[in-house]
Amino acid sequence: MGRLVVVSNRVALPEEGTARAGGLAVALQEALQQNGGLWFGWSGRITAHSSDTPRIIEAGPVTFATLDLSRKDHAEYYNGYANRTLWPVFHYRIDLADFTRENYQGYLRVNTLFAEKLRPLLRDGDDIWVHDYHLIPLGQELRRLDLRQRMGFFLHTPFPAMEVLVVLPSANRIVHSLTAYDVVGFQTTSDLRAFHDHVTLESGGEVLSNGLVRAFGRTLKAEVFPIGIDVQPMVAAAEASYRLPSTRRLRRNFSEYRLMIGVDRLDYSKGLPERFKAFERFLEKYAGWRGKVCLIQIAPSSRPDVPEYMQIRQQLEAEAGHINGRFAEFDWTPLHYLNSSYQRQTLAGFYRFSNLGVVTPLRDGMNLVAKEYVAAQNGDDPGVLVLSRFAGAARELTSALQVNPYDLEGVADTLARALDMPVEERRDRWRDLMQAVRSGSLDRWRDSFLTALREAPYSIET
Ligand code: UDP
Repeated sequence: MGRLVVVSNRVALPEEGTARAGGLAVALQEALQQNGGLWFGWSGRITAHSSDTPRIIEAGPVTFATLDLSRKDHAEYYNGYANRTLWPVFHYRIDLADFTRENYQGYLRVNTLFAEKLRPLLRDGDDIWVHDYHLIPLGQELRRLDLRQRMGFFLHTPFPAMEVLVVLPSANRIVHSLTAYDVVGFQTTSDLRAFHDHVTLESGGEVLSNGLVRAFGRTLKAEVFPIGIDVQPMVAAAEASYRLPSTRRLRRNFSEYRLMIGVDRLDYSKGLPERFKAFERFLEKYAGWRGKVCLIQIAPSSRPDVPEYMQIRQQLEAEAGHINGRFAEFDWTPLHYLNSSYQRQTLAGFYRFSNLGVVTPLRDGMNLVAKEYVAAQNGDDPGVLVLSRFAGAARELTSALQVNPYDLEGVADTLARALDMPVEERRDRWRDLMQAVRSGSLDRWRDSFLTALREAPYSIET
C-alpha cells in the first residue's frame, strides 16, 4: 500500500497535541502513521503574501506541509466563497448566500495554489484523500497537473437538493470538479441522491447499473460513508466525569432541576433561534415545568469575521435575554446561554448529567454532538435525545425523538414528552441508539472510505 496523503483546509499539527485535536484529526493521523503519509493544507496564518513554498514539519513517518494565505486569498477563498457561498447553499440557506464573482475567483485561485504546491510533494502510488467543501476543485487542478494517482473526496456538509444547488452560478463547475475524483463520499443517502440528480438531470451524466457514476468523461464511485465518533474515549470520559470539578459544580448548582443541554458552534445552520423559541413555547404551554427545568446552551462563536455570524450572535443574545426576562424567578434562570467553548472531557460530564440532549439543527451534514450525547449516557438511567430530522445523524439514530425544528409547537411538545418518558422506554431507546453509534464509529468510517479508495480506479478514463 502506498502513502496516504490527506488534504484539508486546516492541518492539525503535531505540536497542537492530540488533546486539542478533534476525533477526526486523531483518526486521520492514525491512518497516516500506518504507511507513512503527508498532511497538507492551510497553516491558519494570514500573511502579506500567500506562501511560495510549504512549511514542512516531519513527525516520524508523517510529514505536515502547510501554506500561509494572504489577506486577499483568505478573504475570498475562506471567508468568501467557502463560508459565504458554499456553506449557506449547502445548508439550504440561499437567502444568506453571497454570489460575487471575486470570491469564486479567489476560491479557484487558492485551490490552484494548493494543487501547485502539493504536486511536487507527491509520489507515485500515493492515495490522496481531500476533505470538505473548501477544496472541491483541488482534484481537478491536480489532474490538470497530470496527476494520475487515486484520489478521493469526502464532503462533511450536506449536498443540497438539485433545485437548491442550481441557484449557485458555478453549480455545474462544482459537480464537474467532483468527477475528477475516483471516490466521492457523502454523509447520507439524501446527499448521494442529490448528487445523482445533478449528474443525470443537469450534467448529462448517468448512474450505471452497478452504482458507479459516469460524467464528464470519467467514471467514479459515489457512495455514502456516515461519519461517526470515537466511541470508547467518550464513554470513558463520561464514566470518569464524576471526578471532574466542572461536573461536580454542574451537579451541585443544578441538583434541583431537570437539565436540557445543547452544544453547537454558533452557526445559523444549527437552528438556535428556533430552539430558543421552542423552549419559550414549552415554558408557556407546560407551565408546570417552570422553576423545574433549565436549558444550558453552549454555543462557542465561530467564523466571527463573517457578517451573518455576527448577526446570529446578536439575535441569540436578544432572544436569551427575552426568555429569561419573561420567565426567570429570583432563584431560577431557565436559559443558560454560554458563548464559550468547552473541552470534550468537560462536555462528556455535561452530557451525562443532562436529562435531555437537544440537537435541533435546521440542516446538518451529520452532527457529532448527537452521537456524543448518546455515548455519554448511563445505560441504567439514560437521558433522551431530541434530534432534528434534518441532521444527517437522524438516518442512523432512528430511536431518538425526532423533530422538525421549524415546527416550534412540535418541538415544545416533544420536550415535554421527553421529560416525562418512563425509564424503561429511555433504556430501550438508548440501547438502539448506542448500537447505532457503535456500529457507525469513526474508525469504521475512515476504513471503509480508504477501502473504497484503494479499490479505484473504477474504470479507465475515456
Ligand atoms: N465541541 C467542543 N467544544 C465545544 C463545542 C463543541 O469540543 O465547546 C465539539 C463537539 O464535542 C463535537 C464538535 O465540536 O465533537 C462539533 O461537531 P458537530 O458535528 O456536532 O458540528 P460542526 O461544528 O462540525 O458543524
